[in-house]
Amino acid sequence: MKDKLVIGNWKMNGNCEENQRLLAEALPELAAVTGVEVVVCPPFPYLAQVGAQLQGSPVSLGAQNVNAKERGAFTGEVSVPMLNDFECRFVLVGHSERRTLFGETDEMVAEKYAAALSGGVIPVLCVGETLEQRRAGLAENVIVGQLQAVASRVGGEAMAAGVIAYEPLWAIGTGESATPEQAQQIHGHIRQWLAGQLPSGTASPRLLYGGSLKADNAPALFAQPDIDGGLVGSAALEAQSFVTICRVAQACQ
Ligand code: PEP
Repeated sequence: MKDKLVIGNWKMNGNCEENQRLLAEALPELAAVTGVEVVVCPPFPYLAQVGAQLQGSPVSLGAQNVNAKERGAFTGEVSVPMLNDFECRFVLVGHSERRTLFGETDEMVAEKYAAALSGGVIPVLCVGETLEQRRAGLAENVIVGQLQAVASRVGGEAMAAGVIAYEPLWAIGTGESATPEQAQQIHGHIRQWLAGQLPSGTASPRLLYGGSLKADNAPALFAQPDIDGGLVGSAALEAQSFVTICRVAQACQ
């Protein structure tokens, strides 16, 4: 069985001093967490700073976004080879804020996923439904559509090489997490969909839950059979909250 995975998405937060302080407090405690892969995703300008501070720790570096092109006239963008220069092991693709605020389509997300995979960076594909879609009974269809767009681009088997994060849009940054039952229901559905894509015997990729994941709701969420860890936003900016979530993941192995 794969280790649980907890990824902190710092979004557009932090500065040199705050990053240093956050990691100085969290890293010694994270060093004692076993059986859990821990990743932090700072904004691009801090990849070098954070990468240097992570040296010698078990925590990996990730990025929040990437462009699918390798290089060229794409002002303001960052490529997979650039992420490799900073030893980023993971990259988020299709975060709902990228989809809704920056116009990323399923096709663009699929290109990013493909570029990350071929460049050796593990893509963390974020999927999720809006509240309106959920109320209309469309959550599963929407999520399968987002997954299918990537599988059509890279081939179903390649879904095993990434990570999938279910993040209902109505739970992100709202303080209102999905219930463990709601999250498990979607994760179970994703797992079933994956089984139809992957050759039999292939290990399923890890499925993370994200959306107002905190130290107090993590135990019930991580106890669900198809939740393999979490994608953490605001709670990842507070050292003790993030460490506690990682400890909960350890306890749920
Ligand atoms: C996120 O942005 O991926 C996220 C889950 O945010 P939050 O934990 O703040 O809801």
